[in-house]
Amino acid sequence: MTKAEIKERITEIRHWLHMHPETALEEYETSEYIAGIMEELGCQVTRGVGKTGVVATMTQGTGGGIIGLRADIDALPMTEETNLPYKSQKPGKFHGCGHDSHAASLIGAAMLLREDSSWNGTVVFIFQPGEEPGVGAKAMIEDGFFQRFPITEIYGQHNSVKLPFGLISTRPGKFMSSEDDFWITIKGRGGHASAPHLTKDPLVTAAEIVLQLQTVISRNLNPQDAGTISCCDIRTDGVLNAIPSTVTIIGDCRTYDSRVQDVIESRMRDIVRHVCEMNGCDWELRYDRVFIPVMNDEACVQVVAEAATKLYGADKVDINAPMGSGSEDFAWFQRQVPGAYFNIGNWAGQGSTPYPNHNSHYEFNDDAILFGSELFTEIVKIRLQ
Ligand SMILES: [Zn+2]
Ligand SMILES: [Zn+2]
Repeated sequence: MTKAEIKERITEIRHWLHMHPETALEEYETSEYIAGIMEELGCQVTRGVGKTGVVATMTQGTGGGIIGLRADIDALPMTEETNLPYKSQKPGKFHGCGHDSHAASLIGAAMLLREDSSWNGTVVFIFQPGEEPGVGAKAMIEDGFFQRFPITEIYGQHNSVKLPFGLISTRPGKFMSSEDDFWITIKGRGGHASAPHLTKDPLVTAAEIVLQLQTVISRNLNPQDAGTISCCDIRTDGVLNAIPSTVTIIGDCRTYDSRVQDVIESRMRDIVRHVCEMNGCDWELRYDRVFIPVMNDEACVQVVAEAATKLYGADKVDINAPMGSGSEDFAWFQRQVPGAYFNIGNWAGQGSTPYPNHNSHYEFNDDAILFGSELFTEIVKIRLQ
């Protein structure tokens, strides 16, 4: 197949995926479709890794090197509002983050690598489910991914409508933030709104906790460290003229450093305990580390830069990108082996900035679909010689 034919084929594949979106850990049709294509390409395919993940391997020559290339495959639980001819056929499900393009680009890499005899070793193509809620990478790892597919490094990419078309953007070290989700439950004693002296008011207690939590960032973190604590919702018993018995505060915290996560979690626990004790309330804290920070390996970032420079020229490569505040569960793979995560610019560059990812009008620009395939292929050629 020529490159033009591969581009056409993977565009068709993306459109099929786009029309048939499935959300986290329910990507049955998606993974079966991908597995079938990878088998046609001559790969060894393992289904059901981490429930709905697919892993395909391609070996050439006798080299012992094994590297991983990863795409995510899940859609978002939202309704698409574009007028595209290949619009989602499922209300309430939409590839609004462009993971359909990631899967198609990774398939494109397999097509390119199959027709290239200049590499030597094993490539592991990872089609990961459940990225959006941050559960899929962990599910694959807990299902023995690294024991079954002993990769020694890993690469992953995301489309970005915020970046100019074709710009490859990444950075060594801290690249994307962690995300910790918390649920603080305060149990008091409810009662009549007119008789607060007979109650233990969990709502006033919650209000004190919300304000105290803001002192963790300002008073407990080193000013050089970044972090956020956002209380995003307060749920009460919801009766107009009754002091509630139970109040729950939910929210999330972001940082770029696991040490900062430790500080936030332990200070949150102290504040909740002390404020509740002071007000005579019981409490529970659930604190889930959903996403850990994406930490890019310096040497792997250099490989991405070398590949991108060779393909598109140095002016299309930026390895000093600012740290992003989004999160990515690719980081769980990077905790086991060195790796690099990078963004590929998808904005055609005319007019105003397009609709962002996670917007119901978001559209992936198909002209950029082959960049991911070419970059993955070039990375393999650099690392598996
Ligand atoms: Zn997303
Ligand atoms: Zn995404």
